[in-house]
Amino acid sequence: MNGASQSAETAQAARRIMARADALGAISETPGALTRTHLTEEHRRAAKLVAGWMHEAGLAVWTDAAGNVCGRIEGAGPELPALLLGSHIDTVPDAGRYDGPLGVLLAIEVAARAAPGVLPFALEVVAFGDEEGTRFGTALSGSRALAGSWDDAWWDCTDASGISLRTAFERFGLDPRRLPDAAREPKDLVAYLEAHIEQGPFLEQAGQPLAVVSSIAGARRFALTVTGRAGHAGGTPYELRRDALVGASELVVEIERIGQELDVIATVGRMHAYPGGVNVIPGRVELSLDLRAEFDADRDDAWGRIQEAADQITALRDLEWSAQETYRADAVQCADWLQQAVEEGIRAACGDDPLTLWSRAGHDAMAVAGVAEVGMLFVRCGNQGVSHSPDETVSTGDVALALDAFTAAVRAVAERYAARS
Ligand SMILES: [Zn+2]
Repeated sequence: MNGASQSAETAQAARRIMARADALGAISETPGALTRTHLTEEHRRAAKLVAGWMHEAGLAVWTDAAGNVCGRIEGAGPELPALLLGSHIDTVPDAGRYDGPLGVLLAIEVAARAAPGVLPFALEVVAFGDEEGTRFGTALSGSRALAGSWDDAWWDCTDASGISLRTAFERFGLDPRRLPDAAREPKDLVAYLEAHIEQGPFLEQAGQPLAVVSSIAGARRFALTVTGRAGHAGGTPYELRRDALVGASELVVEIERIGQELDVIATVGRMHAYPGGVNVIPGRVELSLDLRAEFDADRDDAWGRIQEAADQITALRDLEWSAQETYRADAVQCADWLQQAVEEGIRAACGDDPLTLWSRAGHDAMAVAGVAEVGMLFVRCGNQGVSHSPDETVSTGDVALALDAFTAAVRAVAERYAARS
């Protein structure tokens, strides 16, 4: 199959995916902006819609102990290991419609095309309930429940109104004691494939609709504090100032320079100056740092260089600084055989040799990698790849190509799997 021979059935399925993305996009906690977070009434409504679509596609549907919606079609035999296809249905605040849902909706259509009893494995679709961590700060908690790497400390995380994750679970009708039941055994899984919008500009720049993902960036996050001395803005001459904000600002500029030099993505997303008076020299500044790179060694090198820069900048200004690591996830490689299968799928749908990209953003695949090999397919998004924004777009034509590529990739996985076992 190539682009030219794309069927009317594919075009119709692509329009259905777009309409379903619109339907999910209309389920929001906030009027006028799309926000749908974990274990809310809106999550329940979205999950119900998705479960209905899975059922229509011929899947046996259930909700797992973590609130993920799952559906399954049996393969050529009872109780075979499953190839998982999935993504998430929660969003960031003021989100776009495609980050997460597109992968779920594509997976449902791929499963709808799979005749039961044919594939050498079962096919399962998962709609994870919490990837973004918007409500409780618990990113990837849906997929980590499935991977058996749930963190019990999360139970006490609270949302903005003080409701704990434990309470939200119970109100949603889930039993926290049963959470371990969501975990899957490696022996029951063939692999995990996820389709996702690129959330970056590279496909658009290359004029290509789809890419194979080679790896998902490892990230480290730090809370940095620069400390000086607060003082009267009028009364303190320059030579006596220990201005924490000027020092922190120099550090921010240096962080960007180091990131560019080492090809590491370094971002300071937040900076607060204290005490925060218009006529007071800032005595303390708190800033965030997010570091990501294709390879963990590059990311860690950048952190080393940033520490040296912070030492130098603060020494010159008689300031002090400290850092606390708040998050760390190492890079996840997509399995070679799954990259080949995705590549074969893209070639079947588009004809071209596909681009290979590493994912700058985190995905459920990172967590699932703890329990199964993973592969990913990226779909071009417009407007220079803008995402986590209502301006997120994908075209119906690209979705049609993605559907044919994803379907062909599953076939390619089946051939490789049958040859291996
Ligand atoms: Zn996502």
